[in-house]
Amino acid sequence: MVKLEGTAVSQGIAAGKVYIYRPSSCIVEEGHFPQEEKEARLAEFDAAVKKAAEELAEVIQKMRETGDDKAEIIEAHLEILEDEEMAEEIHGAIADELLFPDCAVKKVYDKYIALLGNIEDSLFQERVADMRDVSGRILRVLQGKKAQDLSALPGPSIIAAHDLLPSDTATMDKRNVLGIVTEIGGMTSHSAILARSYKIPAVLGVPSLLDTLKEGEECILDALEGCIYSSPEVELKQEFEDKRKCYLDSMNKAEHYLEQEGLLSDGQKIEIGLNIGSDQWCEEYRYCDFVGLFRSEFLYMHSSHMPSEEDQYKAYIRVLKHAAGKPVTLRTLDIGGDKTLSYYSLPKEENPFLGKRALRLCFAEPELFKTQLRAALRASAEGRLNLMFPMVGSLEDIRKAREAVEEAKEELRQERVPFDENIKLGIMIEIPSIAEIAELAAKEVDFASVGTNDLTQYLHAADRMNADVCAYYQSFSPSVFRVLRRIAGAFREAGKPLSVCGELGGNPKAAVVLAGMGMTKMSMSGANMARVKQALSAFTFEEAVQIAEAVCGLGSQEEVLEYIGRVFKEKDII
Ligand code: PEP
Ligand code: MG
Repeated sequence: MVKLEGTAVSQGIAAGKVYIYRPSSCIVEEGHFPQEEKEARLAEFDAAVKKAAEELAEVIQKMRETGDDKAEIIEAHLEILEDEEMAEEIHGAIADELLFPDCAVKKVYDKYIALLGNIEDSLFQERVADMRDVSGRILRVLQGKKAQDLSALPGPSIIAAHDLLPSDTATMDKRNVLGIVTEIGGMTSHSAILARSYKIPAVLGVPSLLDTLKEGEECILDALEGCIYSSPEVELKQEFEDKRKCYLDSMNKAEHYLEQEGLLSDGQKIEIGLNIGSDQWCEEYRYCDFVGLFRSEFLYMHSSHMPSEEDQYKAYIRVLKHAAGKPVTLRTLDIGGDKTLSYYSLPKEENPFLGKRALRLCFAEPELFKTQLRAALRASAEGRLNLMFPMVGSLEDIRKAREAVEEAKEELRQERVPFDENIKLGIMIEIPSIAEIAELAAKEVDFASVGTNDLTQYLHAADRMNADVCAYYQSFSPSVFRVLRRIAGAFREAGKPLSVCGELGGNPKAAVVLAGMGMTKMSMSGANMARVKQALSAFTFEEAVQIAEAVCGLGSQEEVLEYIGRVFKEKDII
């Protein structure tokens, strides 16, 4: 038996035979053809695009027939394939440079992949994966190779591959996929996102996987701990079968909680918020009490230019419609740090996370800030919209942000454009300097929400994007919980609403601790709602208070996790 380790990106446990997927890649050698072949080569490229488009249309059709809601991924591939700008560049490379069509395709696609690939943001990384996928498809057609995919598996299998393309994951024979394990990739890679949405257990980033596993070999994939066991012994198989049953049982139980309110077992209400990063509808709008974090960056990141006031206004209205009367907290633009825009150059900084990010950037670019504030204020006339500022580090930041809102309001008044005069203004608490003076901040804002993702990185001085220091990035450390307790006390004292909208708020174990600190609002991604509601329902407020006190008295993250793990086990929840 061999045990290999990676990152668990989609939870679950699977056991079964390995299916090794090694699609052959296309080798492209640079070369030029004689001038007289120009028309024929151009036609060759056009025919390949047409054939690739037909393949994609067929896949979309099949996915639609089977009710697969991820057909949009393949539709995006069709859009890339038919992108006029790229097609024109490829035509240019064939006609002017006399490059063979496969060479021209590779040259142009590689250029865009390199441009987007430098941006460390999951949205852009997804786009890069899509582009690789599409260019691979055109090259395969041009080179006359047969399509290879996972749409017909020999039987229930654990797929092992170096990497999976978005189209591999979208088109695979899901009824027969027990699990996925790959050599590269991590939490935010495309295959991880898809595996989560299909609820397929997946462990990515396992080095030397394909050198170790053999086709058809029995394996156990533990996508709770992030490891895979090849040819396990009988006892281990039994142990994992029990673990798998227990996990599925707990997941089934959790699902029942989705439609219920967030309540502690003694009936105390915990408001459950939804975090969103787009203006698309999602099912979880139904099961939340409010939208606690509307990350507005997506509007900027999905666009090839600065979105206009009108574009933003329309997007905000769409979200308010989905929320159907539930309050929505719109967070103003948070770029900088790891998030950049292709059409807007940010300064090159030594430490972008400590640099001109979010509110700091908005202060430096008053017109950009004003455009968003005007759009948000106009939308506030049509629904319950709150405004929240990210990366607030001082009272001065709060005052400056309020002034900017005042200016935008005054302009709209002059123009007789309606907006909510009493719109609530709040802050993200994610920089330790503002957490430390939370009671003063509480006097100057209508509400706040704790951004535990950044708070953890700044408190522990550990870059949240740097895998080399992830052991130092400890969101369950007693330090994080003590700061949270302090903030909770300050806002309770001031009688101002406080929520947590970082990842911690969507973690069932942390949610119980937060409830015990007196936090009554937590906002999270829709996927976490059922399990958080389930966990809360297992504890009384008194029990949660005791847990929170105990956690704040411990000395390390390890002790905290061990302690909460034990408490959860006693209540029979994972
Ligand atoms: C946070 O920092 O916890 C947060 C919610 O914001 P983001 O992850 O977008 O920085
Ligand atoms: Mg943040």
